[in-house]
Amino acid sequence: MPSTSHAARLMEGTGVAQKLLAETAQRAHDFTTETGRRPLLAALLVGMDPASVTYVRVKRSRCEKVGVSSRLVTLPTKSSTEDAVDAVRELSEDLTVDGILVQHPLPSAVDERAVFETIDPAKDVDGVTMHSFASMALGVSGFASCTPAGIVRLLDANGVDLDGKRAVVIGRSPILGKPMGMLLLARNATVTYCHSHTRQLPDIVSDADVVVAAVGRPRFVRGSWIKSGAVVVDAGYNDDNIGDVAFDEAIEKASLLTPVPGGVGPMTIAVLLHQTVVAAERRAGSGVLRP
Ligand code: NAP
Repeated sequence: MPSTSHAARLMEGTGVAQKLLAETAQRAHDFTTETGRRPLLAALLVGMDPASVTYVRVKRSRCEKVGVSSRLVTLPTKSSTEDAVDAVRELSEDLTVDGILVQHPLPSAVDERAVFETIDPAKDVDGVTMHSFASMALGVSGFASCTPAGIVRLLDANGVDLDGKRAVVIGRSPILGKPMGMLLLARNATVTYCHSHTRQLPDIVSDADVVVAAVGRPRFVRGSWIKSGAVVVDAGYNDDNIGDVAFDEAIEKASLLTPVPGGVGPMTIAVLLHQTVVAAERRAGSGVLRP
């Protein structure tokens, strides 16, 4: 039977992120008025990986735009795990710091997990610690990993009802795929995780109402895999602004599709800043640095 060709509606992240940033800016302003200081996000950058340098620069410039102060701590590429752990411990103990971002990936000689676990959970606004992962998985108060949390906000903004839907997450990294599945499960989706050992991946994807691609391979998910009318989120970001989904093919099958760039990316930074302000509010509420 010939299929009816249709073009998906785009789930643009830029506008949704702007709304969240506007709300964040208002809360940062209120916080500053009440406490006499701005919320502060501290970033640790180890080495000079060009992509990481750019990400940190963009995040700091967004901080400025919403009235959040930022501090950058840099360490040389050849730093040891101990050097990075010491730097994060200092930030965790610094009463003037509300949120800590450890820009990753860290150089291979550094034990990333050990560095992450030195972040005070109250300041883990990037949601990378075991404490944050457990809080998110159990649905109790804490900070979610920014990209998956941003994706859920984007789906909500586009009126996607996840209840009872079959969701397939391709990728199971600790910061993206795994927490993504947990957040979809919390919304009562029936979740399947796929990864590099998954067999018959196209068949599994073709059964999904919602697909999240978090693989890190350009144009990996093909249009022919996608069920007609599915919601497709492309979390991938590869060289030359190419996502993990073959956009030109997927747009003919999906009902909703995120563009790359301008889809998931802007949401990630907006959630990071939002969570920084929330961390500042919570710390002030519990008596830390109240006037
Ligand atoms: P990652 O740590 O490299 O994880 C990639 C995942 O893909 C792994 O779980 C891997 O499976 C799976 N995979 C690899 N090859 C596969 C295959 N042939 N079939 C099925 N699964 C396969 O990457 P990540 O950090 O999660 O990032 C994924 C993508 O998202 C990247 O493009 C990254 O740039 C992007 N990203 C975007 C944002 C944003 O804000 N927009 C933020 C973070 C990441 P195994 O576990 O079996 O190895």
